[in-house]
Amino acid sequence: MELNGSNLLSNPQIKENYDLLERIGIFDVIEKLGRDIRNYQSLLFSAAEIFNRVSIEEIMDAAVSQINKQYLPSFVAFLWKPLQNRTDVVLKSYRDSELVSLPFAIESIAPFEPFFSTHREPILYSLLRGALEREAGTAALIAVMDDLGPELVIPILGLSGLYGLILVGAKQGGELYTEGELLFISQLMSFVSQAIQSQIHYEHSTRDAKTGLFNHAFLVPRLNEELARVKRTGFTSSLIVIDVDKFKNFNDTYGHLAGDRVLEYLAAVIKKSVRNDDVPSRFGGEEFTILLPNTTEDSALLVARRLRNNVAAMTVPWDPPLPRVTISLGVVSFDRDTGAGIDEVIHRGDEALYHSKKSGRNCTSLWREHGPIVAEGDEAEHITPEAS
Ligand code: GH3
Ligand code: MG
Ligand code: MG
Repeated sequence: MELNGSNLLSNPQIKENYDLLERIGIFDVIEKLGRDIRNYQSLLFSAAEIFNRVSIEEIMDAAVSQINKQYLPSFVAFLWKPLQNRTDVVLKSYRDSELVSLPFAIESIAPFEPFFSTHREPILYSLLRGALEREAGTAALIAVMDDLGPELVIPILGLSGLYGLILVGAKQGGELYTEGELLFISQLMSFVSQAIQSQIHYEHSTRDAKTGLFNHAFLVPRLNEELARVKRTGFTSSLIVIDVDKFKNFNDTYGHLAGDRVLEYLAAVIKKSVRNDDVPSRFGGEEFTILLPNTTEDSALLVARRLRNNVAAMTVPWDPPLPRVTISLGVVSFDRDTGAGIDEVIHRGDEALYHSKKSGRNCTSLWREHGPIVAEGDEAEHITPEAS
């Protein structure tokens, strides 16, 4: 019902009631409720945008672009503990939706843990600062935070405590956020923190903690999906199976910790040697697989060769210096005519790998129906296992 300006107000009784409602502020309340509804709609829309993303990077991009649509914070920064890695904290910061690097060094989020173990909501930095000050050994951290000057700090909390923090800077113009704006940002960022938390949980469940590669539990359904996909599309895909040569000797001589470090480096070389769509996994122990979608045997062989050479050239810093390690590989390809299930495909890869072991190690074999063959040009090369 349109009241203002309508001839309804010429009715004295209506006019009297209208004036009364206006005097007691009902219309302001209605207007505020309207604003709140629009805010919540916008919050729901933004939350949907954020929950639709499938990686931490994408969630962060979406969060920043949603915030920037409403206000322009001087910066938004995300800090979190990676699953594995030698660095303790990853930092990503944005200004105007662009990644920027802030001159801001935080080595650990541990000092924030006691506070956020009881306080699970976003908080103004001015309030958090007081709590940090009451803890011992936080002076350097407070100095770093003061330099950066976030307005709002949002915890990313999960099953095993504090995973990370989101820091939102003051508005670019220097204006303060209103209470309503802070509420909006903190509600939106709670969704972001939830989305990042579930992404972290998902990654933990699909990745191997030591190497950061996919785990076996992730590979199995992915390989099944690939077998179904080649049947539908007629494309060829390949699987490379990899095993470190004489690794038991290596551990026995240099120790398990040195062996672990080698596996970490090896995983990094594997990651660098494959494309985005490929699925490098740790099969278990010192065995790895790479699923290569839409890749023929010839192309898979090129990947295997590059990888084998990269591993043979790999040096792993350690004291005492470590000898180089080599890997043996098996390659199996499959298409719609293969007619083999997942177990059979993996078994064929293993057969090819075993053939490489028998053929002198540090080489690549291809699966063949009548027995695997060493790939031409990929025969065993004996490198001198000198200390590097
Ligand atoms: P081959 O060339 O025939 O593969 O010889 P190998 O010694 O590598 O083979 P074997 O399967 O007998 O031994 C595998 C060794 O890998 C046993 C174990 O000590 C080592 N290994 C498996 N997983 C890990 C791990 O997570 N860390 C370390 N350091 N070593 C591991
Ligand atoms: Mg093995
Ligand atoms: Mg081995």
